[in-house]
Amino acid sequence: MTKDPFIRLYAAIAAEEIERIRHYRKPAQRFTASEAGNCPWRLWFKLRGYRPAPNTPEAVLRMLQGEIDHNLIRNLFRKYNIDIKGVTFDATTDYMGAPVFETMTARKSFEIPMPDGLTDTITLSARADGAVETDEGWAIFEFKGMGQWAYDHLNDEALMGDEYLLKRLEAKHRYYIWQMQISMLLFDYQLAYLGPKHRSDAQYGLERKDGTRFGVVIKRNDAKILEIQQSLAMIQRHVRNGTPPPKSCRELKGSGSCNNCEFYHLCHGADERKKKGLEPVVLYPGPQIEEHPDQPISGEAKE
Ligand code: SF4
Repeated sequence: MTKDPFIRLYAAIAAEEIERIRHYRKPAQRFTASEAGNCPWRLWFKLRGYRPAPNTPEAVLRMLQGEIDHNLIRNLFRKYNIDIKGVTFDATTDYMGAPVFETMTARKSFEIPMPDGLTDTITLSARADGAVETDEGWAIFEFKGMGQWAYDHLNDEALMGDEYLLKRLEAKHRYYIWQMQISMLLFDYQLAYLGPKHRSDAQYGLERKDGTRFGVVIKRNDAKILEIQQSLAMIQRHVRNGTPPPKSCRELKGSGSCNNCEFYHLCHGADERKKKGLEPVVLYPGPQIEEHPDQPISGEAKE
């Protein structure tokens, strides 16, 4: 048995993730703001109760560092007297990485007029990173860490003007926009402030040519909110009738979304693998999970 600390760390995280997935249960039938803009198939798999793949240790570490980043930026705001509402701080420490407690949470059901004349009810929930003051007024704060490639492209568009920036956000970061629109709805705000972080060089905000760094104010758009709600209500119909959304709704195989998707094993090549007697079609990663006595061996977790 190796004593290499990193090998042991990664192995321990992998084992912990398998244990977490063994105890996976079908989630509540509602849409969270942070997931609303995800691939419709991904939402469908989740709400139908299919068991996700365990996160890789690398993904777990990225998520942990993301949490630390969220704490750090808000502690920095506190230290330099930049107002932020909707969070509480640990008054016993000035440590910049100290946990920050979010107090803005909301859950609400909505009656949605659908294109076919029917009315569907959906439940939305959100938790905000807080609220900050901008030149245009108080806004929901949405902090997002970005890799170099995504950051550089967004920054290039931002330098060309707001119209290009917003188009880029809609096209490539749909889930940011959807999350912010739903958060504005649930918390009754007219503005949201997207605060990007360039993960590779540990800097905040997009960067102008003169070196100043800034965030992006997004306005509430009720027509957009209705469009989002209708799209989620359509997914809910598919969840209820058991058929997945149309294939045209799937993300592109090989896209960042698919590569990071916990249901990739179900979505790509599952039938072929099953026919060949290979990897289980619904249980991932296989024997470790199948042997667990508490879980049904079926496509759906227990109700
Ligand atoms: S693998 Fe891709 S297409 Fe399939 S559910 Fe996940 S994100 Fe959607």
